[in-house]
Amino acid sequence: MKELLRDNIRNLVPYRCARDDFSGKAEVFVDANENWKQFVGQTQYNRYPDPASAALRKGIEEVMGLPFGMTVVGNGSDEIIDNLIRMFCNPGKDAIVIFPPTYGAYKVFADINDVASVELPLKEDFSLDMESLRKFCHTADSKYKLMFVCSPNNPSGNAHPLEQIEETCRLFKGIVVVDEAYVDFSEKGSARSLQSKYDNLVILRTFSKCWGLAGARIGILVASPELCAVMRSMKYPYNIGRPSQEVAVNCLLAADQVHKEMKAIIERRERYQQLYKTLSCVKEVYPSDANFLLVKTSDADSIWSYLAGKGIIVRNRTNQFGCSGCLRISIGSEEECRKTYEAIASWEA
Ligand code: PMP
Repeated sequence: MKELLRDNIRNLVPYRCARDDFSGKAEVFVDANENWKQFVGQTQYNRYPDPASAALRKGIEEVMGLPFGMTVVGNGSDEIIDNLIRMFCNPGKDAIVIFPPTYGAYKVFADINDVASVELPLKEDFSLDMESLRKFCHTADSKYKLMFVCSPNNPSGNAHPLEQIEETCRLFKGIVVVDEAYVDFSEKGSARSLQSKYDNLVILRTFSKCWGLAGARIGILVASPELCAVMRSMKYPYNIGRPSQEVAVNCLLAADQVHKEMKAIIERRERYQQLYKTLSCVKEVYPSDANFLLVKTSDADSIWSYLAGKGIIVRNRTNQFGCSGCLRISIGSEEECRKTYEAIASWEA
């Protein structure tokens, strides 16, 4: 991993927070230029948060089984994606590999960092094209530092088989990032089980989907302790605010409730998948391992506008590679699903 890092990151002298020099109990904190007084709440929002999000990571270890030393918490997984690009890719020189159609932020963050994106398109059924992947890995030079495999994939919804992810880790000389934002809704398993074998495998998780905390902005990097240490040295020192750390710790305590709703969402997804198939304007409903359905329609633009006119917002993916005619529809509450379904059913070409 060390040799893949950018030189400036490998040689970085990290910023030290005011409290890095002290551990233990103290009564007077006049080291960080905070206001001694808090004007709202009871929970010390006048004080900086824990830069390491340690209590939250302990909870993540207990409830999600992700080892404390192998996690870094980010301001959404978006922050972690951006950090990975800045950690490994030299602007104007290196490149990432993506598999369109996929989550748009990988390319956008690469563009912002002046890092090229090479595209290895998914096949028509949105599976990985292992033939072209093998060819690419055999001939790829060292400028390809990161590969982003989104599984379950956004927007198609399918999870890639673990055997294919394992082969990718074996063949690719750089870091394989498996984005598991939607893994809780999948019965195909997590790539976590492969991490003991491949230290170039990095996993992303998030509190934004199954855990219902999109507003708190908390993503998780699961990687080797060595890689985590580097990311800790380069991330914004206080990247997760106190309220967000607290709410996520509390959410972990409500894991039973979260898991119950996760099962309900999976059940609804399967039911609405069948229902959408019966509509005349629907050409195909793709199998989903996530909390959304990708639905191929006869006219995505018109249906999108028709729904918007009724106050129902779905995601129009018709301009994405391989997604012509497609709308992506989140599995919300039963009522949201029913209203969306009935509105699409009432659309006439
Ligand atoms: N990865 C995928 C595949 C996503 O779909 C999203 C959000 N839509 C993210 C990452 C970003 O998640 P977060 O809210 O944790 O930044």
